[in-house]
Amino acid sequence: MKKDFIFNEVNKLKGVGPQLSKYLKKKKIEKIKDIILNLPYSETDRSIISKLNELEVGKIQSIKVKVKKLSFPRIRNLPNKIICEDETGIIDIVYFNSREGYLRKLFPVNEWLIVSGKINYFNKKYQITNPDYVTKLENQDYVVKNIPKYNLTKGINEKKYRSISEQVIKNLPIVDDWLDENFIKENNLIGWNKSISNLHNFNASKDYNSKSFRRIVFDELCANFLALSENRNRIKKKKIPKKFNNKTAETIIKKLPFELTNSQKSVLKEINLDLMSHNRMFRIIQGDVGSGKTIVSLLAMINIIKSGYQCTFMSPTEILAKQHYELSKKIFKDVDIKIDFLTGKTEYKNRKEINSNLSNGKTDLLIGTHALFQKKINFRKLGLAVIDEQHKFGVKQRSDLAKKGGDECDVLLMSATPIPRTMMMSLYGDMDISKIIEKPAKRKRIITLSKPEKKINEIWPFIKKQIEDDNQIFWVCPLIEESSFLDYSSAKKKFEIIEKKFKNKVGLIHGGLDKEEKQKILEKFLDKKISILVSTTVIEVGIDFPNANLIIIENANKFGLAQLHQLRGRVGRGKKQGTCILLFKESLSKNAIKRIKILKKSDDGFFIAEEDLKLRGFGDLIGYQQSGIKNFKFADPVKHENLFKLAEYYVKNHINEINHTKYSFLLKLFDKAEIINIKEF
Ligand code: ADP
Ligand code: MG
Repeated sequence: MKKDFIFNEVNKLKGVGPQLSKYLKKKKIEKIKDIILNLPYSETDRSIISKLNELEVGKIQSIKVKVKKLSFPRIRNLPNKIICEDETGIIDIVYFNSREGYLRKLFPVNEWLIVSGKINYFNKKYQITNPDYVTKLENQDYVVKNIPKYNLTKGINEKKYRSISEQVIKNLPIVDDWLDENFIKENNLIGWNKSISNLHNFNASKDYNSKSFRRIVFDELCANFLALSENRNRIKKKKIPKKFNNKTAETIIKKLPFELTNSQKSVLKEINLDLMSHNRMFRIIQGDVGSGKTIVSLLAMINIIKSGYQCTFMSPTEILAKQHYELSKKIFKDVDIKIDFLTGKTEYKNRKEINSNLSNGKTDLLIGTHALFQKKINFRKLGLAVIDEQHKFGVKQRSDLAKKGGDECDVLLMSATPIPRTMMMSLYGDMDISKIIEKPAKRKRIITLSKPEKKINEIWPFIKKQIEDDNQIFWVCPLIEESSFLDYSSAKKKFEIIEKKFKNKVGLIHGGLDKEEKQKILEKFLDKKISILVSTTVIEVGIDFPNANLIIIENANKFGLAQLHQLRGRVGRGKKQGTCILLFKESLSKNAIKRIKILKKSDDGFFIAEEDLKLRGFGDLIGYQQSGIKNFKFADPVKHENLFKLAEYYVKNHINEINHTKYSFLLKLFDKAEIINIKEF
């Protein structure tokens, strides 16, 4: 087989027609290489030939039998039957919907055959219905063994798939390995071809630490990291350095009602250096909820504006955009700049005016939602784009975004989702990273308590007191991802119970409401017209509710630690003490108790993210899945932590412009070539 053959559609294979292609597509098997990457998840043991007096009903077994008689009843719905025997007994092999001619050929009378399939018992006789394999004795080696089992959907016959997969693996093109032999040896890996053929044996594919498995993990990681680093090279092109002095920013800093934290100062410095450099900035600020990212970005913007450029600040939601707009008007009130606000709701007339002010350069700063980028908005001289709470963007969107900004536009993203160190490269390998690790000094630590749901009555007086003190409360109901209906009804029920206790003081927000209704309720809460907000979905990230200081989270073990941490970060942003109460349904497992302890002990989002990863593994971190972080197919940041480091090192040190074409096969194998649209590879 030629090397590139495996990047063809599966229908190029012998025996794969349109029907089968369709079913394979459902399993995301579209190209031949997807068959290579579809590893067995188990195996069926057909390795022992059992006597007919040793059969176990319900088990898959192989037997060696002599064909005695075939019967083809001429009555509809009655199956065709082949009666077979060995020295110890007899068995019926039963077929529905198989033609007589076909069966007569398959089962010549008096011939010995190997039959393998699930054993049933019917009418006081053993039988196998539609056996998986029927073969002559001389071919028994193909059947009587451990046979890998692949994850397939209905419509794909296991035997058929096996034969296709074997055909591909047997004819695997011999590739020039992109890893050299020493590197392979030193790092306990194995050559690519060997690794793939081993992995189609369940013994190697089940052991995530086998050389073969490690190799495929390493390849997957390299492909990812390489794509990211290519993306980075593309974005971080030459630009004209921005020239500015820091005076305006310093005047503003002096007037702030607080002192910047050291973290904020050093991140601002990193950003300013980027802005003044000869390469475009492509940077992300990572900082816990409430660590004060917004002010840092505004301070960076004012420098740019003062040096004659325009800036734009994009938020994921209207309310958040509005908050940023209000804040920037306040912060920049003594600076003579024009700030505009644009969302999807902005009326046509205003939109036209905004646009003309942008294109003639009157507007210095445009704040809004992603309407900023979607519509025909023309900046005269865009110098910096800031995107808040960007964790929903993938690599492709990030690179599109950078393109839209134009060659002179620096890009700054901000995210409040702390990422464990191991995941950093996988997610943000194309960006420079700044971390805000401190919280504003005066901020009080949120008190975190846990309680069994049964004792909910003990907290009503506390809640009552909060309302009397004019405080506000979030009440988060269990998040049940599988059923939005259940999700809805549980919050609704809770709402009714609470509403009875605190008349007219409670609001309900859930996924079933449309955007405008949600917005209305959030605004009501912001304006303090209601005291308690019951919600199902996670309350929008980033919105500042300075008056909320209590959050109650029901069924808290449904959430990941990182997510609980994010949720509790919504309260205690003002001057008052914040409290978070975690409610639990049943008695808690050891693991759950450990998790609560971590949460009580620490308010460092990065530490919590690391611990969460260790305790729960990567697979079921709800928080990560929601932030749009895709799972790898093979790599797992907990199980393969060292390979993450190794791949990061490898991509940084071994791959350069001269040798990168030899990685094109690898990039194609993991669908990365198209994402970054690499033609020259
Ligand atoms: P986030 O990082 O979650 O976006 P924000 O930028 O919304 O956080 O800041 C949260 C709150 O903390 C805001 O009310 C902001 O004014 C305040 N804040 C920011 N920096 C400081 C600081 N250094 N000291 C005290 N308060 C600060
Ligand atoms: Mg924010």
